[in-house]
Amino acid sequence: MRIDRIDVYRVAMPLVTPFRTAFADDTAIESVLVRMEGDGLFGWGEGAPNLPTYSPESAAGAFVTIRQYLAPRLVGRDIASGEELQALLAPIKGNRFAKAALDLAWWDLEARRRGMPLWRLLGGKGPDVMVGADFGVQDTIDELLALVAGAVADGFARIKLKFRPGWDVDMVAAVRGAFPDATIHVDCNSGFTLADTPMFEKLDAFNLAMIEQPLAHDDLVDHAELARRIATPICLDESVTSVDKARKAIDLGIVGYINIKNGRVGGLTNAVAIHDYCRAAGIPCWVGGMLESAVGSRHNLALATLDNFLYPADVFVSKRFYDPDLAGREVVHSAPSTLTAPETPGCGSEPIAERLEAMTVEHVEIRP
Ligand SMILES: [Mg+2]
Repeated sequence: MRIDRIDVYRVAMPLVTPFRTAFADDTAIESVLVRMEGDGLFGWGEGAPNLPTYSPESAAGAFVTIRQYLAPRLVGRDIASGEELQALLAPIKGNRFAKAALDLAWWDLEARRRGMPLWRLLGGKGPDVMVGADFGVQDTIDELLALVAGAVADGFARIKLKFRPGWDVDMVAAVRGAFPDATIHVDCNSGFTLADTPMFEKLDAFNLAMIEQPLAHDDLVDHAELARRIATPICLDESVTSVDKARKAIDLGIVGYINIKNGRVGGLTNAVAIHDYCRAAGIPCWVGGMLESAVGSRHNLALATLDNFLYPADVFVSKRFYDPDLAGREVVHSAPSTLTAPETPGCGSEPIAERLEAMTVEHVEIRP
């Protein structure tokens, strides 16, 4: 399919409430949306790096990179597969969120061209996806306990707790004490070092499903050392940016799980490849997200239908973060802890024009 035009939007999406993690308190999320046109159809993609606190990328940087370096490599070209698209972008190093926005737009466009739901095009096992609840840092432990109680009562299959210095072992002890049987894990967002090993050893007492990305965002070697010293499985998120990194993490004996995010790995093409590699290696995966609009969330949901995603996903209903969502066909629960990928062609959501206009910081159109 020939790519005739690419539109790039940098947007700022106001959050319902601030989101606090190991590195920041966010009141709005910056994201980049791509509209790709070909064969008289269009598809939408999204890369949501926000600020350069999760990874080295930012939405502002991704916008420039797509405009200057990536989109010009694609417009006017015939692109028959995700692998072809990635090969055209390969001379540009890194910049995976920027590449993801284009890769996802291509997949949405391809699914629409074939008249197929994206999840079926990817080879999903069925439309229903188990999802978890995810809680950032709260002002008090009691506030967190009330939120967890709500999620447990709502039937969420697992609870993820953001974990940062000062909001650490005592917080986990309180939650585990109140909910002895819940499936719980912590996400450290690379906020610690090997010097914190004694603290991680204490976490072994709380029967956590996993500790997500305890050490530096680009590290494998120290994670391998930590994995030798604790019993709780480690899940890598930030550190796994490619199939090659997944291979190294598995060979080093680090991972009990790998979290796969479309944005972090450069799009669906690479996300599926990492999923397939992990399946062959016997490593279970789960799908993460970056507080995308419904466009990105629908892509995450389509990915999560693949069969080696064996732990509940971080895909959320729109109202959890945005009211209104930038995109229409907002994501809603189909059952407790369940989201259902739609049967409509493509990913199933696209921006609502007036909301996109209101949230756009900058926009550019690229033609051959
Ligand atoms: Mg994470």
